[in-house]
Amino acid sequence: MAYDSNNIFARLLRGEIPCNKVYENDHALAFHDINPQMPVHVLVIPKGPYVNLAEFIAGASMEEMGAFMQAVAETAKLAGVEDSGYRLIANNGEDAHQEVPHFHMHIFGGRRIMGRMIKRQD
Ligand code: 5GP
Repeated sequence: MAYDSNNIFARLLRGEIPCNKVYENDHALAFHDINPQMPVHVLVIPKGPYVNLAEFIAGASMEEMGAFMQAVAETAKLAGVEDSGYRLIANNGEDAHQEVPHFHMHIFGGRRIMGRMIKRQD
């Protein structure tokens, strides 16, 4: 899938729109979600132009992948949920309702009652 270099996270990475940064390394940026669904709701994105996980895996170097996962763990720590626990979600594609076409990981936490998993509806 072609990468849209004007998607909201690309613009945020270029500094065209502000974000509330939690953590940054050479290859990843973490910031608070603008519309938090939990007391802690932080997004972690790679700095490279990847639409989804498949493109990230296909196009990113091992260093980028490692830096991304390191950023996820470090961000959870900085957001104060390392000990209490947190959930990671990466929405990929239409069925998952991915809204922003730049690969990202959600970190949810800060509240005990999160539900166990996705509610079965079939
Ligand atoms: P998705 O549904 O693609 O997995 O999630 C996209 C997330 O990006 C949503 O939770 C939404 O609230 C968040 N978001 C959309 N636009 C912005 C923005 O301009 N700034 C920040 N910080 N978050 C955003």
